[in-house]
Amino acid sequence: MTNFYPAQYNKDGLLDIRHNYLQEQFKDSSEIFKLIEQVVRMGDFTLGSSVDQFEVNFANKIGTKYAVGVGSGTDAIFLTLKAININQNFIAKPEVITSPFTFYATIGAISTADYVPVFSDISLDDFNIDPNGIEDKITENTKVILPVHWAGRICRMTEIKNIANKYNLNVIEDACHAILASNDGIMAGNFGDAGCFSFHPLKNLNVWGDGGIVVTDSKELSENLKLLRNHGLIDRDTCSLFGYNSRLDTIQAVIANYLLQNRIDFITNARIKNSQIYDEGLGDLKYLRIPKRKPNLKEVFHLYTFLAEDRNNLAKYLIKNKVDAKIHYPKPMHLQPAAAKYGYGKGDFPMAEYASENIISLPVHEFVKADQINQIVDLINRFYS
Ligand SMILES: *Cc1c(COP(=O)(O)O)cnc(C)c1O
Repeated sequence: MTNFYPAQYNKDGLLDIRHNYLQEQFKDSSEIFKLIEQVVRMGDFTLGSSVDQFEVNFANKIGTKYAVGVGSGTDAIFLTLKAININQNFIAKPEVITSPFTFYATIGAISTADYVPVFSDISLDDFNIDPNGIEDKITENTKVILPVHWAGRICRMTEIKNIANKYNLNVIEDACHAILASNDGIMAGNFGDAGCFSFHPLKNLNVWGDGGIVVTDSKELSENLKLLRNHGLIDRDTCSLFGYNSRLDTIQAVIANYLLQNRIDFITNARIKNSQIYDEGLGDLKYLRIPKRKPNLKEVFHLYTFLAEDRNNLAKYLIKNKVDAKIHYPKPMHLQPAAAKYGYGKGDFPMAEYASENIISLPVHEFVKADQINQIVDLINRFYS
């Protein structure tokens, strides 16, 4: 099996308006190279001082007490699931209730953490888990609800937390799409026991490789996460529990810190502005169902995504016109080959299936210009006329 990424990036590169904008993102990296040079000179590679600084800065930015840097967004979820039940020996496998309409990593993390993913359908209003369906999925083995803030829109957390409190469950937010997203001014990562973020090159805050972080107000959870990410070591010669190697790389922490201080507000605001141009241009088209915006929700538009009639042909038409229309994602998690062992089938989550068949994403990142968006709006109008 060959690595499919280079071929995918080359293919995307042929389009005029793309989802992939990695070259533009770091056109001027001289400042970052200077900072990295200091790390290299000092040999401060493993859990270096930049990791500590970034953790403090990130927690301050989000508004939590603690932040623990880890190897990726996937590991952020995986390690949090491990840490939250660190001394428990469950007789039956513990269950996590989550969305079937997510990126593979959410379910991969649940599965490798040795929990069973239990899906609960989404709402087509926001593509997030529908709180009304959750209670039916709770069993004596349920331990965690893991909502995913899809595309950068926060889930209906008040309802989710009420259910969690009633049944004494933990809540872990998959906030990988949702850095700086908020509800009534409270940012993603503050609603659950912990929030998990990714710094993958295609996420809103994107480092030069992989990275992730967990935020929490629990001192105990943050300390357990620090142990688990670094072999369970209290000091060089004392291993308090056998853990993992999933530290946030010091060099990636340098980059993440730079982006947090210099770029993320700009990136977020540009995405919001771009989405408003789409909203205005496409809002009246009866062939589309665009999520209704809510004044109390700040969406950060990791994706600009909506339901479209004749979706497959629309996507083809846009790509033919050199616009990188993408499908996130054409198949929900319960219908993936990897999920066969959980015994789900077609028809189990009709809303997630409907979304997968009808959803489309348009480029919304900070390098897409207003006139390019208007071009895309014109193309879509032409397609339906
Ligand atoms: C990207 C992503 C992850 C995983 O993040 P990585 O840093 O790529 O491991 C988890 N959940 C969602 C919803 C994501 O989009």
